[in-house]
Amino acid sequence: MKWKIEATLGLLFLTIFSSRYNFWRKKGGIPILLYHCLSRQKTGTGIDRFCIDKRNFYHHVDYLKRMGYKTVNVESLEECEGKCVCITFDDGYKDNMYAYPVLKKYGYTATFFVVTDWIEKGRSPCGLEMMSWEDIEFLKKNGFEIGSHSLSHRKFPLLSAEDKKKELFKSKEIIEERINSPVHSFSYPYGAWDDESKRMVRKYYKKALIVKQKTYTENDDVFLIPRAVVRKDTDMLDFYLLLTRGRSRI
Ligand SMILES: [Zn+2]
Repeated sequence: MKWKIEATLGLLFLTIFSSRYNFWRKKGGIPILLYHCLSRQKTGTGIDRFCIDKRNFYHHVDYLKRMGYKTVNVESLEECEGKCVCITFDDGYKDNMYAYPVLKKYGYTATFFVVTDWIEKGRSPCGLEMMSWEDIEFLKKNGFEIGSHSLSHRKFPLLSAEDKKKELFKSKEIIEERINSPVHSFSYPYGAWDDESKRMVRKYYKKALIVKQKTYTENDDVFLIPRAVVRKDTDMLDFYLLLTRGRSRI
């Protein structure tokens, strides 16, 4: 009788553990990590779930180096040889500048997707300070990729064709003028897309990114590149699973 209880409890523990940490998922592909802000924000502000402490970011980058990862920008994903990871940031928050010395120290690169209206205003709707155009130009000059994350961060499936075009084209034009270089990559606000936006994005960009907890493989559509979100509650075991499997939990 006792062994039955122990076996049941063991099975229950295994079920709970494997749904929280998905070791059973298939390994492979290039992990594309999505970060937002690198400073703690008050709970309940909406964005706080996606803001991680900058020390955690440092630990992540240090771990990547120790594990032998090389980094690749979105625009040169296909040039990846060996163990690669792609680090991306959405929105363009000022605290992302902390990533610069950390990545530079390890010889790493990253792609920053910026919302041009928010950069112009200096603050996001939730009150976070944004990077300046000087910051963005600085990152570009130092080998980092700058991509567009639209003009005003609205959900594409809710927009008219005309508005979609404006969000895609105008934001690209504004960034290109500032960094004096072509912009090839676009990330959908909220990862939201529809067939019309997928058709339109091809006209202006070479790659587009969504949010999907999986790694990138050569079978993936380059206009629907999946990215795994790194959140405040992502622990190091989650991080390991994101890198190896693109997803850590059900
Ligand atoms: Zn965003």
